[in-house]
Amino acid sequence: MSKLLDLSPWNFERYQRDQEWLQAALDGMDGTLADRISVLHAQQLAVGFIKDPLSDVKRCRLVHPTDRRLSFTTQYNPRRSQRSAGAGRREPPHGFKSVNNGCFLCQENIFWQQCGLEMGYKFDVNARAYFVWCNPFPLMRNHVTISSAIHEPQTWVEDTYEGSRLKSERIIQDLLSVVGLAPGYVGFYNGLGAGASIPGHLHYHLFERSPGHEPFPLEKVALRQSKEDIAPPFLVEPYPITSVYFRGEAELIREQAVNFLDEWTKVCGSSANLSANIIATQTIQRNASDSQQEFDLYFVPRNREYLISSGRVEVVGGLEALGEIAFSSEAEYQRLTAGEIDFDYVRRMLMSVEAPEAYTLIERNRSTLSFSRH
Ligand SMILES: [Zn+2]
Repeated sequence: MSKLLDLSPWNFERYQRDQEWLQAALDGMDGTLADRISVLHAQQLAVGFIKDPLSDVKRCRLVHPTDRRLSFTTQYNPRRSQRSAGAGRREPPHGFKSVNNGCFLCQENIFWQQCGLEMGYKFDVNARAYFVWCNPFPLMRNHVTISSAIHEPQTWVEDTYEGSRLKSERIIQDLLSVVGLAPGYVGFYNGLGAGASIPGHLHYHLFERSPGHEPFPLEKVALRQSKEDIAPPFLVEPYPITSVYFRGEAELIREQAVNFLDEWTKVCGSSANLSANIIATQTIQRNASDSQQEFDLYFVPRNREYLISSGRVEVVGGLEALGEIAFSSEAEYQRLTAGEIDFDYVRRMLMSVEAPEAYTLIERNRSTLSFSRH
């Protein structure tokens, strides 16, 4: 019997060549990380890796029944209901091996899992290497995952106090640095049981604000408090889930946020339950003359035991904490249009994932936080 030709090595060489070419082209272009993400996103959409151009998304605002200044936003995207089908190949083909249990963020697996369609962009942040990978079923415009180039856990909790402190500093510092490279983008870190879908591999989410899109509900409340001359850091209120807002230069808020996270570690007690959503973005400059780069950072303390909310199947992560709720099933769409999913429904949804220790955290830190009159 004649031996059949095996073209898989040829496929893999071609993929590596294309990936190197793409990396060099993106490295060589003018502009910021945000511009490189736009180009990568366009390429990944054109080759069919991104399965959803977000063309079917319907958005809706759910307004408080009496106070029109308070609202949540929802998006209904039926295409996302197919996302489990886009998870990629589970078993490596002949000649390839799976590393770290087929982790979806390990570069060694990505070629065979995504059949050579998925390509990324490697860049350095604070002397650590990261990859940009596009999301095949995005939640927002240019929605990408920023993943560590090495396979390391998502949590900041380590065996020793010093180890945990160092890891939390790094997580916050790198998040701020990434959003510092991407003006107009929002980045967030989801801890374990707080929306992290891949617990074994450190990653962030990053997406671009849509042109003309109003600030997210959480941002709107914080912005109003800022206008009332309440100085950050402060507790965002009224808001259904405990969220603390920090604003300032990167170094200042990194220190404040790391100290706050340290307080959370002490209050939460059991490190097995400790988690958080940390959301960061560049502050929109009020005056064109403001040259110093400032950041907004929101810290949402979470407990891994309380990961799902009443009334919704999916876990609550950083986007939901911002006040934007994504639905993808037809049944949810019916309830949304029938008015059964309303402001109060989302309010209760967010309240139901509140960490039980969050109240103590805020009470203990009254001396360092500003409080409004509410
Ligand atoms: Zn991995």
